[in-house]
Amino acid sequence: MNEACAIAWLTGLLEGEGTFSVNRQSAEIAYPVMKVEMCDQGIVARAARLLGAPNVWRREAEKEGWRPTYIAAITGQQAAMWMRQLRHSMGTRRRAAIDGALAAYHPIRLVDPPASCVVPGCSEPHRGRGLCHKHYMTWSRDRAKGRDARITPLR
Ligand SMILES: [Zn+2]
Repeated sequence: MNEACAIAWLTGLLEGEGTFSVNRQSAEIAYPVMKVEMCDQGIVARAARLLGAPNVWRREAEKEGWRPTYIAAITGQQAAMWMRQLRHSMGTRRRAAIDGALAAYHPIRLVDPPASCVVPGCSEPHRGRGLCHKHYMTWSRDRAKGRDARITPLR
């Protein structure tokens, strides 16, 4: 399966089973959280791999006779990047949740620039604004031509 197919699969899954929310630590500090929770461990594991989630954890059923569920989640800049990429493909309700999560997220400054590009699936070294050279150039060309940017930089 190629990358476009994988993203389409993930988009469909998240439209059905994804949760987009904000983890609010204080009035100033909040970060986005993206989560998928299902009974099917294989599907959750596959979503975790695509999203770059660190692990899949199991939650025991709250009621007797219910099945346990499996959860994959990402947070912070990684979640924000995916939310920006996916928001156009989501339905009204999830898009509103994404917009709420992104609106609450104000990374102050790139105090800690990432080691590699933040575009999902890209592992080229970081050059500027969270992007590698190639993605920085794509972003800056789009911006120069007044097109909708296909890539969202960190700042
Ligand atoms: Zn890149």
